[in-house]
Amino acid sequence: MALREVRMQGDPILTKTCREVKVLTPRLQTLIDDMFETMYEENGVGLAGPQVGVLRRIVVIDVGEGPVTLINPKIVLEDGSQTGSEGCLSLPGKVATVTRPNHVIVSALDRNMEEFSIEGTELLARALCHEIDHLDGHMYTEIAEGPLMDVTFDDEEELMENQDAFDETLGEI
Ligand code: ZN
Repeated sequence: MALREVRMQGDPILTKTCREVKVLTPRLQTLIDDMFETMYEENGVGLAGPQVGVLRRIVVIDVGEGPVTLINPKIVLEDGSQTGSEGCLSLPGKVATVTRPNHVIVSALDRNMEEFSIEGTELLARALCHEIDHLDGHMYTEIAEGPLMDVTFDDEEELMENQDAFDETLGEI
């Protein structure tokens, strides 16, 4: 396994639509291993192919409930809504307020190219939506409500004062 370079916002690869995976080659298996390693190293809870420079519909997620690999993921149900702060490994040190569905069901292929579905609420629902957006070339900043905010220790007091917006402080996804 190896760490991959995380592409930053402004890199055109983050605006492109990814291709579906038809065959999970050994090279793509290695990519998935590397994506998990990179995500954990960066303290993220999710990572999508284009964030490491690969335009394939592959997402890895771990919101603290164990690693999940999603190949060719599709949202098949979404309902409710949640408004909270969201960040991204491609835009480190920043967060903004984003409204997402509070509940989603996503169908995808696993690492054996077998279909499964995953149901997520709250953070997992947010992470699933955020990562699937990456596969279509979208960043959360496009749908952010209000300005991007810096996350630094100096802002801790301010974060406390805006507790409502930061009740659900996320890892960068
Ligand atoms: Zn992201």
